[in-house]
Amino acid sequence: MTVYNPQSLNADEFINDAEICDTLRYADENKDNLELIDAIIAKAKLRKGIDHREASVLLACENPEKLREIYVLAEQIKKDFYGDRIVMFAPLYLSNYCVNGCVYCPYHYKNKHICRKKLTQEEVRAEVIALQDMGHKRLAIEAGEDPVHNPIEYILECIDTIYSIKHKNGAIRRVNVNIAATTVENYRKLRDAGIGTYILFQETYNKESYEALHPTGPKHNYRYHTEAMDRAMEGGIDDVGLGVLFGLELYRYELAGILMHAEHLEAVHGVGPHTISVPRVKPADDIDPDDFDGGIDDETFCKIIAIIRIAVPYTGMIISTRENKSVREKALRLGISQISGGSKTSVGGYVEPEEENSAQFDVSDQRTLDEVVCWLMELGYIPSFCTACYREGRTGDRFMALCKSGQIQNCCHPNALMTLEEYLVDYASPKTRAVGEKIIEKELQNIPKEKVRKIAEEHIEDIKNNNKRDFRF
Ligand code: SF4
Ligand code: SF4
Repeated sequence: MTVYNPQSLNADEFINDAEICDTLRYADENKDNLELIDAIIAKAKLRKGIDHREASVLLACENPEKLREIYVLAEQIKKDFYGDRIVMFAPLYLSNYCVNGCVYCPYHYKNKHICRKKLTQEEVRAEVIALQDMGHKRLAIEAGEDPVHNPIEYILECIDTIYSIKHKNGAIRRVNVNIAATTVENYRKLRDAGIGTYILFQETYNKESYEALHPTGPKHNYRYHTEAMDRAMEGGIDDVGLGVLFGLELYRYELAGILMHAEHLEAVHGVGPHTISVPRVKPADDIDPDDFDGGIDDETFCKIIAIIRIAVPYTGMIISTRENKSVREKALRLGISQISGGSKTSVGGYVEPEEENSAQFDVSDQRTLDEVVCWLMELGYIPSFCTACYREGRTGDRFMALCKSGQIQNCCHPNALMTLEEYLVDYASPKTRAVGEKIIEKELQNIPKEKVRKIAEEHIEDIKNNNKRDFRF
């Protein structure tokens, strides 16, 4: 039997099944232990996080008063660390060729009637221009695993193409990459290509379920997949993004697993995950979410988000257009710091309407980016197109140190206002622009340091009146 060891590089030891089962037992035994729950909430209030055991107790707790306290705390931590800013991004699907047999994804190789497509560089260019014309600055590129159709050279070529396109005032300034687990050498190549975050969803941390859900293909190898973030960091990638696909397995198992993964990265590399994503299984071409046992309702989903927020306050949290408007609204309040908008989940979907069935999942939030931006502002948020940190070399432990000292706020807030101004001038509808200009005017007054405020005001004037772009702190 393997023994739990967060510092081990063996996935069976740092995501240890016996430790998770014991954690869940402990959580069940203590779900009504108000003294312990109060102590955990008090610890969380210190804003330094809580561990997987403590978080699991809170997840098991059903006491309405304690749950209210947890939600209030999550909202407060969200505000303290992220203010009212929400970072915007869009996915870009490069290719849906895939050799894996994942049973929850329509790109699995056995699906013979889905339309397979891989973008040429010309098509990448057209997609990126369409994304730039919407106003996006930050992309997450996605591709199935297929060494013949989508080798690392293809991914690198696409990244180069994406960064090279300067269309009107547009530019993609940060490319995050969501591709299959790979070798240290390939991670090094991605690092050298200037990627932002390397994102890889674990799907499920339960090894047995993992192997059943990935019956064939290289992804079947649980250890190779689960240890990918260690190889990515060894390859020099500072920022990694975790995620599980909620709905596949017991959500309580997954919460403990993902927090153990975060603790492992912190223990071994001195820096936790840059982001955590919380996708849920959604309908798609030959996929019915009801085929899986672990489905969770909206209430449980929001509880998970709140608990992750207080467990890892420094980690950004991402929600996609898999979720509808009302779930996204609740989730934003409880901890989400990044959302996608105007997304297409098919290959080539930004240029061609999605009539061909090449989408990875059905989009629940079908609004345009402009509608999402306006909606966010009407809810009191500041949509941000900021990509400053990685371009200023603030990644990995340097980024985390700034986060932990709270100094990052001095950058995030003015950067959000300046990039929002770019969006308003270049892409917004008249209504969105009117709402946004008022917010910027008001928010400039909330920049505490006079010197920073003055510089931000000057830059905003330059964006509006002198057609200048790309200022950042
Ligand atoms: S989840 Fe990824 S690896 Fe699995 S079939 Fe879909 S694209 Fe391929
Ligand atoms: S300043 Fe850094 S942390 Fe803040 S929004 Fe920009 S990129 Fe993100």
